[in-house]
This record gives sequence, C-alpha cells and structure tokens, in this order.
Amino acid sequence: MSNGLTMREPDQATQILVIDDNPEDRELLERLAHAAAAPAHVYTATNGWEGAAWLEAHGADCVLLDFQLDGEDGLAVLGDLGQIEPFCPVIIMTGHGSERTAVSSMMSGAADYLVKGEITEGTLREAIGKARAKAAERRKAAEQDDTQKRFLKTLTHDLRAPLRQIGGFASLALRDYDTAEGGRVKDLLEQQMAATRAAVELLDTLSAYALLEETVGLTPVDLDVVVAQASDNLSAYITERAGEVHTGQLPPVVGNQVQLVQLFQNLIQNGIKYNKSDRPTVTIETVTRSDRQATIVVSDNGIGIPTDSLDAIFAPLKRLWGPVDYEGSGLGLAICKKIAAGHGGRIWCTSIKSKGSRFFVMLPAAKERPQDASVATDTVAG
Ligand code: ADP
Repeated sequence: MSNGLTMREPDQATQILVIDDNPEDRELLERLAHAAAAPAHVYTATNGWEGAAWLEAHGADCVLLDFQLDGEDGLAVLGDLGQIEPFCPVIIMTGHGSERTAVSSMMSGAADYLVKGEITEGTLREAIGKARAKAAERRKAAEQDDTQKRFLKTLTHDLRAPLRQIGGFASLALRDYDTAEGGRVKDLLEQQMAATRAAVELLDTLSAYALLEETVGLTPVDLDVVVAQASDNLSAYITERAGEVHTGQLPPVVGNQVQLVQLFQNLIQNGIKYNKSDRPTVTIETVTRSDRQATIVVSDNGIGIPTDSLDAIFAPLKRLWGPVDYEGSGLGLAICKKIAAGHGGRIWCTSIKSKGSRFFVMLPAAKERPQDASVATDTVAG
C-alpha cells in the first residue's frame, strides 16, 4: 500500500455478542459460541444497555440474549436490538418452563430460542447457522424490495426530466416553425436529441443492470487483455479529459471476459470522472496473488469518497453527487459488485478525501494465462 491508504478487507470470522447477567452462564455461552461458530469473535455484555451500546458501535452476526436479565424486560431489550440492527438475528436463552415467553419473543422478532441448561455446541451451531441463513434471506428480500423502489423512483423522477425537456423543446419548435429562422428550430431539435439520448442512456443502464446475466462460462482470462480492452473502449472519454491509465502486469483469473471488461471499464471511468486533477490518472495493479485468489487494485487521484459512504456506493442507484456535478446513473458500482459476486469474488473500496480512491477486486486465480491472449503490459491509454 504505497500511498498510505489502509486496506479494509472484510473479516471472515463470525461476530457473536453474548448478553447475560449471570457470570457462569455467560462464560459457558462464550465458550460454546467460540466452538459452535468457529472461527468466531465472541463479545460479552452483562446487561441490555451494555449489549445495545456494543451492537450499535460494532455490529454483530448473531446475538445470544438471556431473556431473564435482572431488572430488565426481555422483550424491550429484544426490541432495542432490532432497532439498532434489524438484520442481526437474536437467539433467546430461556429457563426451563419458559416456552410461552419464548414463543412471544419469537413473535417479537427473535430468530430462535434455546433452553438454558440444555445448550450444547451442536444445538448452538445449528441454531446460529439457521438464524444467520434466515437473516441473510430477510436482508436480501429487503434489499431487493429497496432496489425495486429505487428503480421506480429513478424511472419516474430521472426519466421525467429529459422527457419534459423533449416536450418543451418540441412545443417551442412547433410554435416557431412558421415564424422563426430555420436556425432556431434546428437548435431546438438538437436539444431534443440531447435530451432523448440522456433518457435512452438511462434506460439502457437500468436494463443492463436488471438483465445482467448470471455469471456463466468461466474460463481462464488474461486480465492484461481485459484491462486493455476496457481502456480502449474508453479511449475517447479518457482523451477528452486528458486522463491516463497505467497498468502493471496483471495475473490470469477464472472469469467471464465480457463481464470483467465491463467491471474494469466502470472502475476506470469512475476514476477519471470523479477527478479534479489536471491529469486524472487511474492505475491498475496486482495487490496479492495466490493459487486460489488474485486481488487487483484500481486506484485514482480523484476527489475521494467519504468514509461513511464506502459501502453504500455499491448499492444500486446510490449516488453521492447530483447530475449537475457529475453525470451518471448510480448503477456502475452495483454492476461491478454483481459481477464480482457472480465470480465468487468481492469488491471493496478505501479512500482519502481529495487524494483518491482505491477499489479492490478479488477474483478466483487461474493457474495459467490462456494460450491465445497476448497483449503488451504497461499500457497507457488516453
Ligand atoms: P455513477 O453512475 O453515479 O458513477 P456508480 O455506481 O459507478 O454510479 O458510483 C456510485 C457513486 O459512487 C458515484 O455517484 C460517486 O458518488 C461515487 N464514486 C464511484 N467511484 C468513485 C471514485 N473513483 N471516486 C469518487 N467517487 C466515486
């Protein structure tokens, strides 16, 4: 990491929060959770307040909650936790004979319940596994719902603007048709064309995202070729902005070449677009390479991204700027994320304001370069 940016690779360990006021039960649950969810980080809290504060600050993959915390209402604690992290599953620990309480807790959003004294590593593993799978499904469904709503909003809002312009220019052109100079009608028609192009581009990107194929046909792919192709597709854009694209030698990966060109094209274009330097520069290099995975970084010297938006920018239609500042649809990174995930890989980002951003792409590594792919490295496009 030569430019001092820190790489924030997602931690693979399961984060479990145990909330229990009984020291022995807490210790036992901590030990069982370590074994049941390995590899796991297990954190403990002695009451609902402490647990809620911890969840707020750090998040968790699963909470094990003692339902009979001294002086606290289990349902209220459950409600608080749900407010903080709606998709974090909470498994209730109840005493013997408290099945009715358990049922009411389930109706209030608990993922499952286990009876204290009967919990084993096996039952806990099963409960955590099921609860997390259910929570992941709920999250996915909610995200899809959210995406659909955003799509509708974009369709109705962002498409209405160019259509209104087209209508306005058409009506002016009609009014002036017989009276004005031919030049004015021509101007209006040109403006109509521009607004039509904007509307069609938006529709194209929306449908490209919605119809993005499942990733199939994975073969060894030469990333040098992929990046050269992506830069080539953008060459007019890069030249227009006096930009530069530098690439080091990149490893072969297992992938779908067409989709990978799209992924790198989106990242390169963003690196040039969200950039105010005299020479917008994008550099593509290998970060790590093992037999199984290769991580590539696409860095730019652009405007940077606020830390609290580093995850959000990958959501469909999420934009940090309006169309007056920077044009775009808010789908480029969502497409990149979908493609990376389709390859069994990941994409994430680090950034420093006004200095630049780094987008990391992890993909499955190929043992060898494909035979027919040969392209010069150290490409400079633009
Ligand atoms: P868009 O069509 O808006 O560029 P993207 O999905 O590609 O959509 O990006 C989402 C948002 O993330 C952008 O609107 C921008 O605010 C931010 N962003 C993406 N890439 C960069 C970058 N390299 N530097 C700064 N901001 C970026």
